[in-house]
Amino acid sequence: MKVLVCGGAGYIGSHMVRHLAAYGHEVVVFDNLSTGHREAADAATLVVGDLLDPASLASLFASHRFDAVMHFCALSLVGVSMNEPYLYYRNNVAGTLNLLQAMRVAGVAKLVFSSTAAVFGNPETELIDENHPTRPINPYGASKLMVERILADAAHAYGLRSVTLRYFNAAGADLSGEVGESHEPETHLIPNVLRAALGGGATLKVFGDDYVTRDGTCVRDYIHVNDLASAHLKGIEFMADHDGAHVFNLGNGQGFTVLEVIEAARCVTGVDITFERAPRRAGDPPVLVASSGKARNLLGWVPVFTDVAAIVESAWRWHQRPRY
Ligand code: UDP
Repeated sequence: MKVLVCGGAGYIGSHMVRHLAAYGHEVVVFDNLSTGHREAADAATLVVGDLLDPASLASLFASHRFDAVMHFCALSLVGVSMNEPYLYYRNNVAGTLNLLQAMRVAGVAKLVFSSTAAVFGNPETELIDENHPTRPINPYGASKLMVERILADAAHAYGLRSVTLRYFNAAGADLSGEVGESHEPETHLIPNVLRAALGGGATLKVFGDDYVTRDGTCVRDYIHVNDLASAHLKGIEFMADHDGAHVFNLGNGQGFTVLEVIEAARCVTGVDITFERAPRRAGDPPVLVASSGKARNLLGWVPVFTDVAAIVESAWRWHQRPRY
């Protein structure tokens, strides 16, 4: 297969590129390199361009005949989305519409779309399945939900096949050490914990210790980035004999508190990681844990990294020797 990976120079996209290459697929990456890293797309042909520029998309689709598209390009910081909603809707919704239009003109009819647990807003149940109400509480989650709706409409109107994957907390790094999570500024828990273990940076903060959880800190479902990648490939296979727009939640089905993640990192690194307790971060629901039964049953997806310590350990390999 020849697969277009939009956002393939970013954290999850670059793991996807390696996964596709390992299975013998031809990969073209389209990325504006705003947050991605050129080196992360080494396993593919890189086309630098922006979804907000329809001309660059037209030329991309005129130069290649793709069997399917994976769409990882997005702005994804909840806090920024609260202050810059136009920016988020323009990039995440208008940019996606440009991509969908280019696919339609080129006759490419299969898409795997990256969505998020943020579409659920404040969850009503501890374990979240696909039927849980979607009421996003920030523009980031709302922008992803809008695209989910567009994909449902496109299935009906144009016959577009799509698999939407709602990630819970993507984490970890490929064991090769060649790609990993590298954001600037970094807002995510596991990279911040590991930066604290390395020392020299800002003090690690634990946002909120008065939630109604087992130790007062937020519970999240951490899912290894390579397990996300394997779900995407299974999503393409699924579309071979399923039309329509399909949505799946992706997580391990097990939640860990912030303090439990820090403890796991202490064991993995051997460093007595210190932190300070800080107020709650706006927009953080107390508990987000996925029910991934649908993905397991219909996609035949089986995550490999089910233990949070193994996920932290894989991230630690990268953080000790980041390549970019
Ligand atoms: N968190 C924290 N300190 C940090 C970063 C995150 O205490 O430096 C907490 C955050 O408040 C949330 C959890 O860790 O409860 C996971 O946050 P992250 O940003 O990694 O992912 P999110 O759940 O927001 O997608």
